[in-house]
Amino acid sequence: MKQKRLLEILLSLIKIEALSQHEKPVADHILDFLHALNLKPYFDKSSIQTGSDTGNLICKVGNGGDFMLLAHMDTAQPTVGVNPQILADRITSDGTTVLGIDNRVGIAVILFALEKVLLEKNVIKDFTVCFTTCEESTLAGSLNLEIADHIKKCFIFDSSLRPGAFIYSSCGAKKFTVTIKGLASHSGLAPEKGINSIAIAACALSQIRQGRIGDKTTVNIGTISGGSAVNVVPEKTLLTGEVRSAELGMVDEVIAGIKTIFLKESATRGAGLDFKDEWDFKPYNVTPESEIYKDILTVMGKVGLTPVPVASLAGSDANSLNGRGIQAINLGIGAQNPHANDEFILKADLIKISEIALELMQKQRS
Ligand SMILES: [Zn+2]
Repeated sequence: MKQKRLLEILLSLIKIEALSQHEKPVADHILDFLHALNLKPYFDKSSIQTGSDTGNLICKVGNGGDFMLLAHMDTAQPTVGVNPQILADRITSDGTTVLGIDNRVGIAVILFALEKVLLEKNVIKDFTVCFTTCEESTLAGSLNLEIADHIKKCFIFDSSLRPGAFIYSSCGAKKFTVTIKGLASHSGLAPEKGINSIAIAACALSQIRQGRIGDKTTVNIGTISGGSAVNVVPEKTLLTGEVRSAELGMVDEVIAGIKTIFLKESATRGAGLDFKDEWDFKPYNVTPESEIYKDILTVMGKVGLTPVPVASLAGSDANSLNGRGIQAINLGIGAQNPHANDEFILKADLIKISEIALELMQKQRS
């Protein structure tokens, strides 16, 4: 492979086990790497909020500049015992575990590019590199990331799309929890005295549209549990669900409709209801007029890629950062089939995404 060093950095990262909230081993590995380059990485205080065994790892290059290059340190699935297979055109696992390239490819290309520009003494911009925790579980790392005032933009190396593609817009998601409080009673001796919370849930569910309910909106009831025994009228039923939409107002509108149905069905039968909802992540839309959008089109052109802007229905650190006023886009890194045992990356894609990182770091040659 053309970039042996890049592969070496990636393979050493893949071997490290670091699930969400347990990112310290990979954070320490990156810390050593950056120290060896005479940089001064530091941890923020986000672990207090995230519950992780480490903070986010941040490192200024020069004065830190006005943009960040970012990847997340956690993997969604364990990588213990991972046995990478280096094939002619791609890198895969041996099929018994994930490969862990979501998001170790993102970390590897940032570290590789940084090492290369520093060792070769290229003329580079000022910028900040950043490695977050808890992306896979809650986005809590980026939600609580310590961001310097001078940072305005963030290039995230974390989309499973091929290099060239970039996510400029993503849906938001709100999750909700419903508790129906009926009344327990003996099912044979006194069923009339009971209030059946499962029956109320069933009536409500029959009126709620699920799945794709519009162009940009989905609804899912993900879990349901209730009752205590076959001979007891079920007192309590608990449901959880989520609403996703590209439009902020639509999420609240759909949630309000769902709540009304549960309230009506519970009240009709004399049951109590507790309904809670909260944002998982908010939607964002980076417009073609914004600086970061123009920047990435320029960079893609320089490395010979055709830019492909994509709207996504999944959340990422880009949702947290855009929600916090930082322009952020998520770049396709070609880590395909993420979280599955057939996860793979084409060698050509790995090299291409590293070229994007290099281009972002180097000063424009006039
Ligand atoms: Zn990821």
